[in-house]
Amino acid sequence: MAAATHLYAIAIGSNRSHARHGRPPQIVEAAIARLDQEFGLFDASPIVLSAAHGPAGRDFANAAALVESDLNPMEMLARLKAIEREFGRRSGRRWGPRVLDLDIALWSGGKVRSRRLTIPHVELARRSFVLQPLLAIAPDWRIGSTAVRHLAARLARRAPRG
Ligand code: AMP
Repeated sequence: MAAATHLYAIAIGSNRSHARHGRPPQIVEAAIARLDQEFGLFDASPIVLSAAHGPAGRDFANAAALVESDLNPMEMLARLKAIEREFGRRSGRRWGPRVLDLDIALWSGGKVRSRRLTIPHVELARRSFVLQPLLAIAPDWRIGSTAVRHLAARLARRAPRG
């Protein structure tokens, strides 16, 4: 029997330059190409530039991608961590500069809650730099009864500059 195919929304972020891939916008572009190579890429958002959150003091480049895969969420997390390492990501301070951050924002299987993985991503509804790119490619994706477009609109009303 064929394995189930899942749809994943991947949040992509960078705020540190890389010797080979360049500055954060180019890193995010290269990460989208890498996801396309590794998975079936359905769609990718434009790259959004925003001011850094936390004390890192660097600007972020963010995007979102929709990919199709037979991997389950833990397997997907392991693949994303391996791609982060390929891009020279080192683990360290939570808000420290990072070459590449890949998170599972949503998947078609609904909710996941384990020690290592929470889907929808816990910060999804609070981060405009995740919601804005997601809005461009999956405005109607529902989290419970609330669509991405409604979460984005709600966040924009609360914090107009995100
Ligand atoms: P990060 O700071 O983004 O590198 O994430 C650190 C850890 O968060 C990962 O190693 C995961 O175990 C955990 N995590 C929990 N939920 C998620 C998610 N939805 N996507 C990615 N990582 C997650």
